[in-house]
Amino acid sequence: MTMHPSAMMAMPLLTSDIIKSAALRYPNQEIVSLLPSNRLHTYTYLAAYKRINQLAYGLESLGFNPGDRIATLANNHYRHFELYYAIGGAGAVIHTLNPRLFREQLEYIINHAEDKYIFVDPCFIPLLEEVQSQIPKVKAFIINCGQDEMPNTKLTPVLCYESLIEGQSQEFNWPELTANHNCGLCYTSGTTGNPKGVIYDHQSSVLHAMMSGSSQFLSFNEWDVVMPAVPMYHVVAWGIPYSAPMFGAKLVFCGDKLDGHSLYRLIDSQQVNKGFGVPTIWLGLHNFLASQACPKDPIPSLKLVGVGGAASPQNLVKTYAEQYDVYWMGLWGMTETSPLISAAINSPYVEKLDPESRYRVQSSAGKAMFGTQIEIFDHEDQPLPHDGVQQGLLKVKGPWVLKQYFKGEGQESFQQGWFDTGDIAVINPDGYLRILDRAKDVIKSGGEWINSTQLEDAALDYECINEACVIGVKHPKWDERPILLVTLKTNKVFSKEELVNILKRKVAKWWLPDAILVVEKLPHTGTGKLTKVGLRHEYQNYLMEQVLIS
Ligand code: AMP
Repeated sequence: MTMHPSAMMAMPLLTSDIIKSAALRYPNQEIVSLLPSNRLHTYTYLAAYKRINQLAYGLESLGFNPGDRIATLANNHYRHFELYYAIGGAGAVIHTLNPRLFREQLEYIINHAEDKYIFVDPCFIPLLEEVQSQIPKVKAFIINCGQDEMPNTKLTPVLCYESLIEGQSQEFNWPELTANHNCGLCYTSGTTGNPKGVIYDHQSSVLHAMMSGSSQFLSFNEWDVVMPAVPMYHVVAWGIPYSAPMFGAKLVFCGDKLDGHSLYRLIDSQQVNKGFGVPTIWLGLHNFLASQACPKDPIPSLKLVGVGGAASPQNLVKTYAEQYDVYWMGLWGMTETSPLISAAINSPYVEKLDPESRYRVQSSAGKAMFGTQIEIFDHEDQPLPHDGVQQGLLKVKGPWVLKQYFKGEGQESFQQGWFDTGDIAVINPDGYLRILDRAKDVIKSGGEWINSTQLEDAALDYECINEACVIGVKHPKWDERPILLVTLKTNKVFSKEELVNILKRKVAKWWLPDAILVVEKLPHTGTGKLTKVGLRHEYQNYLMEQVLIS
């Protein structure tokens, strides 16, 4: 058979086309940003597009080569949004730096990425002043503020964002890039070894936005008011700065204010109906609302929260459903997967379930979206059945899943076209994915596995507990045993016996933690996830010492 060449137009999908189209289709739709002064900044997609054109000219005046990395060290706000589109659209790569990184990591990442310029929020200037002598390749620092707000700084040379764009034309001649031209770079959290870079291209970013914004997933449209309470420096704020404009949703950026009170005020004043963030964000909002003498449903506009980045506690899913009439949509993804892969969307199937079964499905990682594939494998790398019981290493494929890390590092994560996520999961016969643990967090007790997140979820059934964290520590007989660290809610009387009784109802006896410790605080990453590395180190000999004492 003669194979004819494709007769279709080869039109690349570019991120700049998203904002161009938003300016045409939804010129009056708003973008609202909460500024550090607590003032709200509001403008439209059309106004944003004009400034993005001006910024692209500003970048051109600075000078860069196609593919050069231009970094940001910034919170969620309209200028960061403009940088997303102008840098990528002009042919450079936006590298979003995480301000919560340790000094050494920040320095390492800036040098590894070879960042040429850094756009920085005034509040993060001290972080760069500390490392400036170690990052000689950075040519200039641009402060994200107006001329009258320029702070004193030791950074040099230093420029002002608003001066860079002032007087520039509002019609930039966007370059004709190819679909695989790179546009974004984000580093993994690097809890073991150095962080690795994940580079996104235009096509992968646009496809991710098209699918994740569609009705198979977040279902964005012009009626929506969308608030990503997930930082724009962490995996493109789950792609929402691309998917919301693509489907015409109003965007609400919360700046650096992710506490319950601030979120409540924004949800209330902007009538937010869809919010996104890690579980601790929604725990914070609930704790705030619970501490107030609120009306029955204090957040009536909010109808959906999309929750990923860590396991969803089932009793928080229930609280959001029963107290606030909010649908909790479990999501799964990672930096390497742009990030969204699967979601527990509402459907006739979910709606017909009895409440407890429904909350369980909502707290799962949901079903993989069109275009992506998920599979679980055993130790011999054989695929396991999707029976909801057998657990294995989760691997994924898809047009927005990376095939190699920046500069070719971490080759061991890629085999036979799959990316090894490092997560342990089960898939049930209906296609629902449930993440049981990170492979490195699984506790190996006498050769058998205990899943830390399942144990944490069981502990959270006890109303006294605010947060729970299970880690494996050394044990003389079993190699490793779990210990449970908890923080408590105020005004509740805590009893270890009661907690153990609750755990016994949900987990096997041999899973019960060998120690339960009440702590003041648990450590979190910059994105609000529990981080266990430091705790494992701190408590590694806890049980050994107990045995020696007794
Ligand atoms: P990051 O690359 O920092 O976004 O982290 C990705 C990791 O977060 C995944 O590999 C999972 O271990 C974890 N994660 C993300 N979503 C979920 C979820 N729905 N349930 C449990 N863990 C999750």
